[in-house]
Amino acid sequence: MIYLNGDFMPIEEARIPVLDRGFIFGDGVYEVIPVYSRKPFRLAEHLHRLQHSLDGIRLSNPHSNKEWSHLLERIIAGNESDDQSLYLHVTRGVAKRDHAFPKGVMPTVFIMSNPLLAPPAEWLATGVAAITASDNRWLRCDIKAISLLPNVLLRQMAVDAGAIETVLLREGFMTEGAASNIFVIKDGILLAPPKNHLMLPGITYDVVLELASANEIPHEVREVSEYEVRTAQEILLTSSTKEIMPITRLDGKSVGDGRPGAMFTLLHQLYQNYKSTVMRG
Ligand code: PLP
Repeated sequence: MIYLNGDFMPIEEARIPVLDRGFIFGDGVYEVIPVYSRKPFRLAEHLHRLQHSLDGIRLSNPHSNKEWSHLLERIIAGNESDDQSLYLHVTRGVAKRDHAFPKGVMPTVFIMSNPLLAPPAEWLATGVAAITASDNRWLRCDIKAISLLPNVLLRQMAVDAGAIETVLLREGFMTEGAASNIFVIKDGILLAPPKNHLMLPGITYDVVLELASANEIPHEVREVSEYEVRTAQEILLTSSTKEIMPITRLDGKSVGDGRPGAMFTLLHQLYQNYKSTVMRG
């Protein structure tokens, strides 16, 4: 069951007019929220980021947080899996094609849910391969915009190379992955690039830094150079659907000793413990 503009229906019945500005211009924003045991994880933080994205494209929020919560509860209840991945999507609505904002148009609101599948055990056991590429996206990567063509092309480069993610480099520094945030471990220190307009402020990224602080894991939030990425002991990828994963090959070369390292093992365990605590509470 999905939600579209006030109605709940099977996805096969959902219809969007071709003049929707999401379809014509990619003029909209979205969120992806993981659900464990039918409870949304870090809902307040995801709704806060949705607001930031809406502010960034100057579109007023069609719902209060309470209304979003109710809509999401109904979608969660209307779908089979206990663990789900919620997708929320808001566009500037349907209007005659013109770049400038239309007046008096209702935004399009769409919510769907897919089963949330745990990353394959093998990926966690041996790590995954990634490639690097130049970050050729726009300068508002902090907005979770539905216009994802650069991300689509960058991630396909990884798939074409038999890898699962593309680590993006801009002017000698790492920004993030095509669909994830990236951490680097150097000299035993967890390094995270600072949140700014060049990367999406990841919800999982925040959880990892909170866990690092709470558990006295040495960490620094600062710019990470391409050299540090290429000579890293470990590289970690984070996202709501992939959680924390070790990148053990970069551009065909081993990262560290080519196996998931101690920092990954520790953070992954802490993340799983944290999830269980939050979900029980
Ligand atoms: N960066 C980009 C470009 C993403 O698309 C995503 C998520 O899909 C992330 C980072 C990770 O964000 P989160 O941890 O909130 O899922």
